[in-house]
Amino acid sequence: MKTVYFKTFGCRSNFFDTSVIAARLNEWQIADNEADSDAIVVNSCTVTNSADATVRAFVRRMRRENPKAKLLFTGCGAASLGKRLLENAEIDGVFGHSEKARIDDFLSAEKPFEALGALDSFDETIIDRFDGKTRAFIKIQDGCDFNCSYCVIPLVRGKARSASKSFVLEQIKRLADRGFEEFVLTGVNTGAYGRDRGENIADLIASIGKISGVRRLRLSSIEPCLVSDELLDICAAPFMAKHLHIALQHTSDRILKAMNRRNSVKSDRILLEKVSKLGFAIGSDYIVGFPSESEEIFNEAIDRLKLLPLTHIHIFPFSPREGTKAAKMKIDVNGLIANERRKAIAKIIDQKRRDFYLKNKESLIVLIEKDNSGLDQFFSRVQINSDSDHSGWIEVKKYSIDQNGAIEARIEDCACL
Ligand code: SF4
Repeated sequence: MKTVYFKTFGCRSNFFDTSVIAARLNEWQIADNEADSDAIVVNSCTVTNSADATVRAFVRRMRRENPKAKLLFTGCGAASLGKRLLENAEIDGVFGHSEKARIDDFLSAEKPFEALGALDSFDETIIDRFDGKTRAFIKIQDGCDFNCSYCVIPLVRGKARSASKSFVLEQIKRLADRGFEEFVLTGVNTGAYGRDRGENIADLIASIGKISGVRRLRLSSIEPCLVSDELLDICAAPFMAKHLHIALQHTSDRILKAMNRRNSVKSDRILLEKVSKLGFAIGSDYIVGFPSESEEIFNEAIDRLKLLPLTHIHIFPFSPREGTKAAKMKIDVNGLIANERRKAIAKIIDQKRRDFYLKNKESLIVLIEKDNSGLDQFFSRVQINSDSDHSGWIEVKKYSIDQNGAIEARIEDCACL
């Protein structure tokens, strides 16, 4: 049987999509590595310029290192980068999200092809496995109806749409039966789940919590304006991870307005204080160097950021994406300054994470992934120091946290669950 290697870039939704493509294979076997596979499928991410550059570099390296392999391209970059690579004969075919079911045909195609399909489908193929993963990512939603001025995602993922509740529950049951105990609900705009179907995410979570075998459930990134009191009530349930990733993007109202965001500094502060009272760790995304982010605006934003009970942060330097409103704005923050701003924010949040753990009185419940390291209920990585290899769930009763927020524990201070 011929073999195909899958390479996935980007977010959790993309990893789920790759599993769906793999589940649709009939005539091909999955290869463990790219070196001697007969085909390579690249599931791309196009969220920033640097994501595009990373994907392009991988494609070129594959052509050099395994020139005989058929090279197919899919994912968020299909219509932009994928099309260009096909025109330059750097790949053999490009297909869109809606065309996953045709994977066998694409792999056997004798001529270069383009099959971008439509942006309104949701593939409800049930998958049975997540290779090499301890937790399962479940895609419950796709697309976005918001119109953030910097974001290319609505253009490449289409309008917001949800999976049916019955599909999500069946998918989780299937993987729980196969031994998965931790699940992560993902989507492009996860909090918008169910709006197109008269359902809502709080009800979905409550139903998932009743599935036998589900030990811990996380929500991936959520928009602040979609965190309802009903959602917070269910997030306090014992099976939920004690962490929410709330995508604020900035802490200046002027910049949030230019970003065309639906949140404001005041509403964010009220929301984060509510979440923090539940004992949750809170993460966020933050964009530095957005057009018009003067020194004065940045300093004011930093003062506001310091007041928020954040513990984790993903900081992105602004990257203009073709087709977005922000791409036409004048860039007035150079890369060096944006990098300095990134470091300043990271330092503040590292300290806040440290303070959070120093005050924390709960044991850490860690699901080990590999090399005695895994994530706790607050979404921080914990390294267990031990001479032997461990797996499964570990309760960490005592731990240390260094200046950068890295957490370590001795196996003597842990118990296997
Ligand atoms: S909410 Fe904004 S940032 Fe998030 S996917 Fe939609 S448009 Fe992009």
